[in-house]
Amino acid sequence: MNKLQHLTVLGSTGSIGKSTLDVIARHPDRYQIYALTANQQDELLFEQCSRFKPRFAVMLDEAACKRLAQRLLSADLKTQVLCGVSALEDVSAAPEVDAVMAAIVGAAGLRPTLAAARAGKRVLLANKETLVMAGRIFMDAVQQSGSVLLPIDSEHNAIFQALPNQYGGDLKAGGVSQILLTASGGPFRNTPLLELQQVTADQACAHPNWSMGRKISVDSATMMNKGLEVIEAHWLFNAPAEAIQVVVHPQSVIHSMVQYVDGSVLAQLGNPDMRTPIAYGLAYPDRIDAGVAPLDLFKIARLDFVEPDFERFPCLALAYQALRTAGTAPTLMNAANEVAVDAFLEKRIAFLDIPRLISDVLDKLPVHAVNVLEDVLQADMQARSAAQNWISPL
Ligand code: NAD
Ligand code: MG
Repeated sequence: MNKLQHLTVLGSTGSIGKSTLDVIARHPDRYQIYALTANQQDELLFEQCSRFKPRFAVMLDEAACKRLAQRLLSADLKTQVLCGVSALEDVSAAPEVDAVMAAIVGAAGLRPTLAAARAGKRVLLANKETLVMAGRIFMDAVQQSGSVLLPIDSEHNAIFQALPNQYGGDLKAGGVSQILLTASGGPFRNTPLLELQQVTADQACAHPNWSMGRKISVDSATMMNKGLEVIEAHWLFNAPAEAIQVVVHPQSVIHSMVQYVDGSVLAQLGNPDMRTPIAYGLAYPDRIDAGVAPLDLFKIARLDFVEPDFERFPCLALAYQALRTAGTAPTLMNAANEVAVDAFLEKRIAFLDIPRLISDVLDKLPVHAVNVLEDVLQADMQARSAAQNWISPL
């Protein structure tokens, strides 16, 4: 009999959050929810509270907090409602919690995810922005607290599975020559370049293989998502930029690969369904049913691979460049990208403005060393204001 694990799900109303609860609901004997959190979707969070009966529900938006508390009271449910960023940190670091699913989108995920790592929790990391913004600080926190870090991003989960057992952060010692990070190429892989200027937010969010939140969907369309993932892989596996090769693989069946010095290439395959890496992270080192259909190789029939096109996807080049520059460069890039994606979703800038904005912000702002969290937060704020200014100059 396994010990019951107590979980906090940060961002439970999002795409990853909902998939996490779907897996958890299949294994009530293994998992119990301690806290669920959301930004402002009180209706959905209420439904999740009725079903999973957490001790706490945390919302960022104050009005939504009040509405949720009222709904819970009327339904005679005991879940206690908390509000704000420090409450997110509290439910991530609470002594009763064994594991935290970090599935808030964007820079907002940094503080609570870091709190979970500092408190030595098992961290299921979906929020890649944490590593892009503050990779060194986060990885140091994991090491110092003895936290177990499990990548949930499908590519990094695949790499984790294909690396040697007990991989200790030394590619050479593990006999690894290269990490092959697969990418679908998104919805605009073959769109004529001239048409890209006019594409809409809905077109950008219509991913051919995955159903995801809107921010990561736009990131996939610009391939900034793959750029963020290159930086994520750098921190997770201690891999230099030269050892991370992006491979465009439109079917999204191979979720990434590890190439060894003896010529072996190990891959992890599966249907494109995030419940597989989520279940892996929840149960590691065990395997549990995730509700995912078995892979039908005969139906898939073929797998294709092509080199990434850095001209069509300048965001990918910007990310490699930011990784090589190091210091606050990835933080600046991440913040500029978040502002640009928001503005694109709100129809304030065009699709091709996204890389232009990021590149201009990076050219304009100085890069500093990252020693403490404050360095990251400062850079994040600076880049956000430079990006806003790019969109609507004062
Ligand atoms: P989403 O937009 O569907 O959900 C985001 C969640 O975060 C929601 O619960 C929302 O309420 C919460 N949230 C948003 N802003 C917040 C704020 N300011 N403070 C507190 N909470 C806030 O996003 P998603 O697609 O589930 O992605 C979540 C994270 O997982 C992202 O970092 C993404 O890159 C990563 N990821 C997602 C997928 C996927 O398939 N969706 C795959 C790999 C990695
Ligand atoms: Mg991914």
